[in-house]
Amino acid sequence: MSERFTGNFTQQEPIPDEAIDAAVAVMKTGRLHRYNVAPGEAGEVALLEQEFAAAMGAKYALAVASGGYALACALRAIGVKPGDKVLTNAFTLAPVPGAIASVGAVPVFVGVTEGLVIDLDDLAAKADQADVLMLSHMRGHLCDMDRLMDICNAAGIKVIEDCAHTMGARWRGRLSGTDGIIGCYSTQTYKHLNSGEGGFLICDDPQVMARAVMLSGSYMLYDRHLAAPEPEVFEAVKYDTPNISGRMDHLRAAILRVQLRDLDRQCDRWNDRYRVVEDGLRGTPGLTVIERPEAEEYVGSSIQFLLLDWSEAKIAEVLRRCLARGVELKWFGGAEPSGFTSRYDSWRYAPSEAMPQTDRVLKGIVDMRLPLTFSLDDCALLARIIRAEVGAVWQAG
Ligand SMILES: *Cc1c(COP(=O)(O)O)cnc(C)c1O
Repeated sequence: MSERFTGNFTQQEPIPDEAIDAAVAVMKTGRLHRYNVAPGEAGEVALLEQEFAAAMGAKYALAVASGGYALACALRAIGVKPGDKVLTNAFTLAPVPGAIASVGAVPVFVGVTEGLVIDLDDLAAKADQADVLMLSHMRGHLCDMDRLMDICNAAGIKVIEDCAHTMGARWRGRLSGTDGIIGCYSTQTYKHLNSGEGGFLICDDPQVMARAVMLSGSYMLYDRHLAAPEPEVFEAVKYDTPNISGRMDHLRAAILRVQLRDLDRQCDRWNDRYRVVEDGLRGTPGLTVIERPEAEEYVGSSIQFLLLDWSEAKIAEVLRRCLARGVELKWFGGAEPSGFTSRYDSWRYAPSEAMPQTDRVLKGIVDMRLPLTFSLDDCALLARIIRAEVGAVWQAG
């Protein structure tokens, strides 16, 4: 009898007891709004920002309502205006072009390589089309950040990094989110910290961060922040920066503070799982494992592989057979967006030209979540099932 997997791909670990206690303590005070603090009290949100800035090695941090909010706030904070063009990845998630559209700007899509990172040759070719790049480290894959920054610095392009899948990852030892002018993170349930909804921006530029704080809905209470620029910096921006409310609250901050202390250990645990699946898949005929560059320290909270140049029917057959054995795979190549998968040409509000090389890669990307509720044995089983089913469809020719 063939093996079956019975785990749940959307089941994260429970919120730690210590975090639950911290949340209950906040609720008992009744003071949930970030600026509602007792005399002498810093508040969970300000403390979280201070701790997050320290953890990421950034001067400033701002906690906000979601990752998508962080991205839009970042665009506004660096002065992106309606009608401006913004370079971004063709392979990313809908909230990224959505953030660009939300400020009235227009995405210019840059292709994806077989390594699942932004195509730097395509970026160089399009560098004269925009002054801003919203770089999405989609599914945790980091491009050659040294070359990317060279291209962008030479062309005067400001970089905003979407680190929704790279919180804790590094390129040549530098934490993801610290190369660009702003790094954005999500603390939505499926990311590396879980507060249901939530996000962060980090930044070293005082003017930009002051604008982000004002934008997030600080009223004139910015002096209650512990990881923000000095009050003088706000004097220059406070009358000209609209309040576009998107604050974090103490309840979510309380559970994030506890989780943040454990981030490195959790990243190691994701990578243990990732490597078991990766080892189990390597060498499967017809299947391309995404080899990770030496300079990249990734966080394997999901895994991707390519069924490159397979027909749609055969890929669908693999997915169907795996699902019948309890293995939920997602396919980014489908013509119709489904679940969280969608492609650049399904965002019809944004103009796009056909990108044959990118389409070839997108058509072959298969994706699987690796929640920490899976054991290493689970991961070995997942790899055996995928290997067997890909093999069966491949051999049938
Ligand atoms: C989740 C995600 C976002 C947005 O985060 P939310 O907190 O859900 O708004 C942005 N980019 C990528 C790549 C994501 O996966």
